[in-house]
Amino acid sequence: MTSLRSELVIDPSIVQENIKYLKALIPNKSNFMAVIKSDAYGHIMENLLKHIDCFVDGYGTVRIGEAIRIRERSNKKILLMTGVYSEDDLEIAIKHNLDLVIHNKEQFELIKKNNFYKNLWFKINTGMNRLGFEEEEFLQIYNEHLKDKKIVLMSHLAASNNPKNKSNNEQFARFNNVFNQLSGEVSKSIANTGCVFNYPDHSYDWVRCGIGIFGGYIGTHELKTAMTLRSPIVNIRKIKEGDSVGYDGRATAICDMTVATVYIGYADGLAQNIKDGTSVLVNGKKAKIFGKVSMDLTTVDISDHTNCKIGDYCEIFSPESSINNITIPNDLISYDLMIRIKSRVKKTYHN
Ligand SMILES: *Cc1c(COP(=O)(O)O)cnc(C)c1O
Repeated sequence: MTSLRSELVIDPSIVQENIKYLKALIPNKSNFMAVIKSDAYGHIMENLLKHIDCFVDGYGTVRIGEAIRIRERSNKKILLMTGVYSEDDLEIAIKHNLDLVIHNKEQFELIKKNNFYKNLWFKINTGMNRLGFEEEEFLQIYNEHLKDKKIVLMSHLAASNNPKNKSNNEQFARFNNVFNQLSGEVSKSIANTGCVFNYPDHSYDWVRCGIGIFGGYIGTHELKTAMTLRSPIVNIRKIKEGDSVGYDGRATAICDMTVATVYIGYADGLAQNIKDGTSVLVNGKKAKIFGKVSMDLTTVDISDHTNCKIGDYCEIFSPESSINNITIPNDLISYDLMIRIKSRVKKTYHN
């Protein structure tokens, strides 16, 4: 037997299907930006690009090194979503034909000094209070310097996955209030995945979808998780009523049980605080985490399973068992779990 290890298998056809599904929710005139920051949310950006390039109108990322790696593989629009912070980076961005977000005065000074006004996205703060110009600050800059320039006005929603949160409508109102005071050629972009689902009317000129294309959005079952995290069973044990399993004996059997020990733990990126009862799949059938996740091992209740053997795979999540089955009951988020998978896990592409 080759050495056993946990594996992360990525299926690009699922990312394609998710993109098609999301695009069907938005008006035809809206352009679709795939947000692939942080190594495409852990989906190996370099491998992914060739599978999605013909389905999208552009890419969003955050670090300039990632933007350059995208440019080496695509001629589409690439938005550097936090912009640049130095002359050197500006020069690199221009050379690679990147679109830039300008989110504060310091960044605007850099642009002004270099008289560079191409492909700029001005970010305004509509309530998230993280990045973006205040309304008055932006209008002043706009009226002095940007009236004759083609720009994109952008903002970002703080709670788009929760349509009950009234902050969403407040953010739209602030956004459009600024937009309505602009006179030139201005496009608009505020929608991330949650906005596309809950407020498709606010798709405007560009939507920027990340978590949805990877199937981690919590508001739907239509999108499929594009990665499979799986690991083989390395031991199977029968235990008696009253026996406890794993560290601190957190899980105690209330009847006779069969427990599989799986070759994955928090050293692979599984969260340590995953609770008993969390659903995983063994041989395609539901099984439940039973006992604390250890550094290298995780114990699973397979009492209902017949014919399980050492070497069979336990899927922590997959297209058949959404990553949200792991994250939601354990107060985690899919974004974080996707990017947390460690390098000792063998990452491959499904073909
Ligand atoms: C990450 C990010 C997105 C994508 O958000 P999702 O919720 O993953 O769809 C969009 N816009 C900005 C500015 C982002 O940072």
